[in-house]
Parts: sequence; C-alpha cells; structure tokens
Amino acid sequence: MSELKIYDTVIIGAGPAGMAAAIYAARAELSFCLIDRSYAPGGQVLSTYEVDNYPGLPGLSGGELSDAFKKHCDKLGCPFVTADITDIAPGYIAPNGFFNEIDLKTRGLDSMIDLVYMISTAEGDAYLTRTVIAATGASHKKAGIDGEEDLTGVGVSYCATCDGAFFRKKDVAVVGGGDVALEDAIFLSRLCKKVYLVHRRDQFRAAKSLVTKADAIENIEFVFDSVSKKILGNSNVEELLVKNIKTGDERALAVSGVFIAIGITPATGLFKDLVACDEGGYIIADESGKTSMPGIFAAGDIRKKPLRQIITAAADGANCITSVEGYLMK
Ligand code: FAD
Ligand code: NAP
Repeated sequence: MSELKIYDTVIIGAGPAGMAAAIYAARAELSFCLIDRSYAPGGQVLSTYEVDNYPGLPGLSGGELSDAFKKHCDKLGCPFVTADITDIAPGYIAPNGFFNEIDLKTRGLDSMIDLVYMISTAEGDAYLTRTVIAATGASHKKAGIDGEEDLTGVGVSYCATCDGAFFRKKDVAVVGGGDVALEDAIFLSRLCKKVYLVHRRDQFRAAKSLVTKADAIENIEFVFDSVSKKILGNSNVEELLVKNIKTGDERALAVSGVFIAIGITPATGLFKDLVACDEGGYIIADESGKTSMPGIFAAGDIRKKPLRQIITAAADGANCITSVEGYLMK
C-alpha cells in the first residue's frame, strides 16, 4: 500500500457538480481524479432532451451539454476514471507506510491528524486521498404503486427521453407534478397519441412556464387530485387505475406506458455513516461544501439546498475546490 499515491482530492461523480469541480481542481493544479461508474459522464443531465436554463447555452440537449462539460475537462487534462465506488474509509498513514483505518465509533475526530481516506471500487482498486468531494447526485424515486415493480421495463419507465420512442402513437400516463413530470408530458405529447398527467394535488409544483406550455398542448390531459392505485397488464402495461382523492371516484386509464416522475433520492449511501444528513437523506453542507466530517465536501444534488439545478450543482463543484484548497493549506 505504501507505494499508492495520495491525491489532494478525489471527486466522486461526474455530473455537473463533479465536472465543474474537476475543471476548478485542474486550474488550481491539485492532484486529483474524477471517478464515475458510468462510461458516459453527465449524470442526470443525460436524461433530459433539452436544457433551456443554463446561461449562454440555450436549447442544448442534455447529451450535448454533458459532452461540452466533458470536452472542457479533457482540454484541461482532468484524469477521468470509470469505476463504481463501494467504500470510503477514513484513516491515516502509519510510520510503516501502511494505511490504518480509523473506527469512527471508537475514536473521536480530534485524533485525526493527517486524516487520509481510502476509496475502494467494485473493480478492486483503491485510491488514497486527503479530501473527497461527494458529487454522486441523485436517482429516480420509486412510487410503490401496485404492479410498478413487475411491469418495470415492459411499460413502466423512469426516463421519458430514454424510452418515449417505444410508445409512438400510443396512449401513456405520466405520474408526478414537478418539473420532470411536466417536461416528460410535453416531450411525450410529440410522440404519443395521448398523455395523461396524473398528479396527487390540483396545483403543480413545476415552474409556471412548463405548466402553461403543457396546458396549451391538446393531447395532454391533466388528471388532478388523483393517486395511482394500480398498474395492470399481463406481459405489458395495459391500464393505470387512479383514484380521485376528493370524490373517491376511480378511473381506469387505458395506457401502454406509465412514466413515473415523482422526484429524486440522494445517492448518499457511501457517505451516510461518515457525515451528517438531514431527514431526507441529503448531506448537510452549505455553499462551501463543508460537511460534518473534515476532508469530506459535498457538491450538487446530494447536498441540502433549495434549488437543485445544473447551474447550482456546477457552482457547488467550484466552491468545493476553494474549500479543499483551504483545508489542504491548514
Ligand atoms: P448527478 O447529475 O446526479 O450526477 C451524479 C453522478 O455520480 C452520476 O454520473 C453517477 O453515475 C455518479 N455516481 C453515483 N454514485 C456513484 C458511485 N458509487 N461511484 C461512482 N459514480 C457514482 N436541471 C437544470 O438546470 N435544467 C434542466 O433542464 C434540467 N432537466 C432535468 C431533467 C431530468 C429528467 C432530470 C432528472 C433532472 C434535470 N435537471 C435539470 C436537474 C439536474 O440534472 C441536476 O440538478 C444535476 O444533474 C445535478 O448534478 P450532480 O452533479 O449533483 O449529480
Ligand atoms: P420534485 O420537484 O420533487 O417533484 C416531485 C413531484 O412528484 C411533486 O409534484 C410531488 O407531489 C410528486 N410526488 C412525490 N411523491 C409522490 C408519490 N409517492 N406519488 C405521487 N406523486 C408524488 O421532483 P422532479 O420533478 O423529479 O425534479 C427534481 C429536481 O430536478 C427538482 O429540483 C427540479 O427543479 C429539477 N429539475 C429542473 C428542471 C428545469 O429547470 N427545467 C427540469 C427537470 C428537473 P407534490 O407536489 O404534491 O409534493
């Protein structure tokens, strides 16, 4: 182990937060690597067909914007590694040059002079680093509707841009009332015969501009105050059963596809035993990215914040590098 290099920082996750951090780390001449389990960097942005709110680059597809971020990283020589991180262990380098793990349950933080982290991958590799940037983002939430799990992949989908084309000229339903649900409904309305947008309240959470746009599209029907009870079908989705919570009426929507767009869950599994998280599982960190654990910084959708967007994720990545530089100088 003694021959292992110790990085200034390892950035985990190559979405907008991680790639922005990498750009700033390269310019700060830190020794670092950027690790993502996916061969295609970009994170959640890859699953959007159009990004219309990133300054200066209106109308790019998620793929194009991610590609622009990656090209910028490549231009600065950011080292990109494809690997699935499975563990992060705090410790120190003993006089014999070996890494010694610290058991956080039995030792206090004040004993952690020259704290070092060992990052392990599913592929069997390990990286030593003085700091870690947690930029693992978030993933789609499951709705827990009866039939959802069994029919996933045969009509139930969590990504309209990935799977929409399979439902050309068919009737589909979108479940949710946030930006993603509205965007999905608008996207699907161009491919599908009819799109039911099923929301549990009578007000959308989504941006007003999206609601106005969807409202003007003829083949989108808003199904308000309705909870999804069951997704039915033998080998493929055939019906979505919804119940109006105000009237108690049930309605069977004859659809071939059900797109679930009910929000995201932070990907904090790697960090939850190391840093403080809020009740929703998001890492507690302010704009500086500093967490409750020295040397671990959080950027992007993974941290507690009011607005989860590409621009705020990228800003977090940049801020984290300033914090890392400050930490390393101590
Ligand atoms: P993510 O984008 O989630 O990236 C996290 C990365 O970490 C992923 O690449 C993942 O593979 C990697 N990772 C996770 N765990 C591990 C692990 N254990 N080991 C290695 N790698 C790991 N925002 C906008 O501003 N405008 C939009 O138009 C817009 N459209 C959107 C459309 C959709 C469908 C969705 C889902 C989101 C949209 N957003 C949009 C929100 C935006 O995509 C997110 O705010 C942003 O991607 C968050 O960036 P991030 O870097 O924090 O995390
Ligand atoms: P979100 O904003 O959290 O909205 C989730 C929606 O799903 C809410 O309307 C919620 O209803 C509903 N919901 C939650 N749990 C449900 C359940 N069990 N059953 C039925 N409905 C349920 O999530 P999102 O739309 O996925 O967006 C994620 C993040 O990405 C947000 O921060 C969003 O702003 C961002 N984003 C931005 C853009 C853009 O800027 N163009 C585009 C896409 C995404 P309630 O409203 O009743 O709570």
